[in-house]
Amino acid sequence: MAIERTLSIIKPDATRRNLTGKINARLEEAGLRIVGQRRIRLTREMAEKFYAVHAERSFFNDLCAFMTSGPVVVQVLEGDGAVARNREVMGATNPQNAAPGTIRRDFAESIEANSVHGSDSLDNAAREVAFFFAETDIVG
Ligand code: ATP
Ligand code: MG
Repeated sequence: MAIERTLSIIKPDATRRNLTGKINARLEEAGLRIVGQRRIRLTREMAEKFYAVHAERSFFNDLCAFMTSGPVVVQVLEGDGAVARNREVMGATNPQNAAPGTIRRDFAESIEANSVHGSDSLDNAAREVAFFFAETDIVG
């Protein structure tokens, strides 16, 4: 498989519980390399723009409120088939459906506060990486 880059976000429920290091260890153990990383506080405007694809969903307002409720860690992951690999390590959106050993199964609080985001396709990965990172801030 080809070397890819994908966007990961460690969400506010996880930063609040000081789980950044534990989550990063899971990513690295899965063969993903953290080639860009920044801890930031999303503004409401950024959250709405980032999740624009979900604007019509019933949970959109709550999701944007949650994502701005505390710091997040945005990160670029690089590795063989990184987009799918990261989705595997994350586990299903609802932690109750997530496989044992996945980040969401082990750390998520709820379907909303599910600890991590990961791009769901190579095209979205490129768009989402560019949303947060300049090419000069990514060092492979
Ligand atoms: P992400 O995009 O964060 O990686 P995902 O691709 O697994 O997660 P999406 O369907 O894209 O899931 O939903 C985006 C986010 O919206 C979810 O991660 C979760 O935080 C929230 N969400 C999704 N479905 C629900 C729901 N039914 N109720 C509340 N929040 C939800
Ligand atoms: Mg998604």
